[in-house]
Amino acid sequence: MPIDYLNDYRDPKLIAALAARIKAEASRPLNIMEICGGHTHTIMKFGLPQLLPPQIRFIHGPGCPVCVMPKERIDHAVALASQPNTILCTLGDMIRVPGGKISLQQARAEGADVRALYSPLDTLKIASENPDKTVVFFAIGFETTAPMTAALIDRVVVGGVKNLLFHINHILVPPPVCAIMDDGAAIDAFLGPSHVSVIAGGDIFLPIAARYQTPIVISGFEPVDMLESVLMIIRQFNEDRREVENQYSRAVTPRGNERAKALMDRYFTPRETFRWRGLGDIAFSALKLREEYAFLDAERVFAHCLSNEPIDDHKLCLCAQILKGRAKPTDCKVFGKACTPNSPLGSCMVSSEGACAAYYRYAQLL
Ligand code: SF4
Repeated sequence: MPIDYLNDYRDPKLIAALAARIKAEASRPLNIMEICGGHTHTIMKFGLPQLLPPQIRFIHGPGCPVCVMPKERIDHAVALASQPNTILCTLGDMIRVPGGKISLQQARAEGADVRALYSPLDTLKIASENPDKTVVFFAIGFETTAPMTAALIDRVVVGGVKNLLFHINHILVPPPVCAIMDDGAAIDAFLGPSHVSVIAGGDIFLPIAARYQTPIVISGFEPVDMLESVLMIIRQFNEDRREVENQYSRAVTPRGNERAKALMDRYFTPRETFRWRGLGDIAFSALKLREEYAFLDAERVFAHCLSNEPIDDHKLCLCAQILKGRAKPTDCKVFGKACTPNSPLGSCMVSSEGACAAYYRYAQLL
């Protein structure tokens, strides 16, 4: 019988059977970090912690690209949107994240031309419809979305588009995982991100598993996927293995999408350092435009009005600790009170992948 991709991975009987196997085979306490914010939402939406024995704990990780963007980068976007004759384009949730003073949404309310897009390629139409304006694409995301930005840059370069610039905030998964482990986090194993792995390939996690002796199981997003991945981690410990395994084999290969990686490599190169919210400066943890495409780089063209001075989070906000796996949203005193999705104090409450947003939504607070 063919697989029903919508329902089979949420099959209650399969979920119950996997939960029973986990209970039978779990032999020691395990702190498992799910790197990806999409996994955090599955955990909360389907109540997975309630299905597991208490010694198996999920620790939420830094895999929400909106959440980890520091305030000074948000301020870059606000400063760019405030330039005369400029249109600032970005993806979805980014416009609601508070910067040092205001968010892009507030900048728009004050008259700036800020557009939230579903696809980076939409900026081509905006640029062609506004030839007398400068359009800036504020690009965010992990290895998952970087190829889409690279494809847009390719269209701009090949098509000779003259009024489209890029502010690149593409970040990479392995460096912050190493930073968290080097910081002494008590994490025994990782659930690897699936979409990132589709592009970058499962092999990018081999050095991490070897260096920290932590199992990493690349997991799909559905509850059956995630419970099977937890079982695979438990079996690794029971068999004294510490390996990268691929539960999401219906989409992930060891080397990933070679065409997408080649396109990224054509236009991007690693950035010497990048500041992450909560994690600080991490070397070679992000991408920037290659030198030959500096003329497209809004960070260089508008360098005179962009500051890189670090800006602290709201003093009550625990996003930094949550992104390091050292706190849960419910540890925050203002969770669900002064901080809600309609009035977020921190980035983790904004994004559809943020841990605070997941707790709020699935705790029936919405
Ligand atoms: S509830 Fe709000 S203030 Fe608290 S950690 Fe989450 S985002 Fe920050």
